[in-house]
Amino acid sequence: MSKGLLLMVSAPSAGGKGTILGELFRRDGNLRMSVSATTRSPREGEEHGKHYYFISREEFKNLIDSGSMLEYAEYVGNLYGTPRGPIEQWLSQGHDVVLEIEVQGGAQIKKLVPDCVSVFITPPSMEVLEKRLRGRGTENEETIQKRLDTARKELLQAEHYDYVVINDRLEDAVDDMQAILRSEKLRYEREPERINGLLAAPKA
Ligand code: 5GP
Repeated sequence: MSKGLLLMVSAPSAGGKGTILGELFRRDGNLRMSVSATTRSPREGEEHGKHYYFISREEFKNLIDSGSMLEYAEYVGNLYGTPRGPIEQWLSQGHDVVLEIEVQGGAQIKKLVPDCVSVFITPPSMEVLEKRLRGRGTENEETIQKRLDTARKELLQAEHYDYVVINDRLEDAVDDMQAILRSEKLRYEREPERINGLLAAPKA
């Protein structure tokens, strides 16, 4: 069985990545989504174990110390991290795994898993981003400003990603994500057996 592919996705907060990934998961049953741990408080409607593992700073530090975090980063005053166990298990089972993380964690993953595929999702404009952030209605003005500043800094990191997907029309953005996955899976180096198997067959 071939090993799954690690798809690392970053986008400024409220860039619309949740909607794109939701649709991608609906279309592709082989995908698995990593559930991160965070010290931030849950937003309305968010569930422990589904959207995040909401834990205390102390619990988070313990997970780091025990080596259970693949990567972690501080973002707008809170810690976010990727639990290692489920990812290694899914990949070895042949599932493709999506990590939805910010850019500092993204840089760590690139070093740890060089054959991961990275995608940066951008909003079509800064105006749209601000509108989405405000429309969510879950953050106060200070946090909105911090998230907008952070978004500008994050856009500067897009150059380190393999692909950029513009989140304008949802259908197009999801098609783009699927196209990336499909072509990445056809790369020679991911499955040299496709050719080696042919060469190993007995001559007619
Ligand atoms: P939010 O608070 O809006 O849910 O997430 C804030 C930022 O943290 C987003 O950019 C999101 O992608 C990122 N994030 C979520 N989980 C992780 C994680 O496990 N590791 C890192 N480095 N960033 C994460």
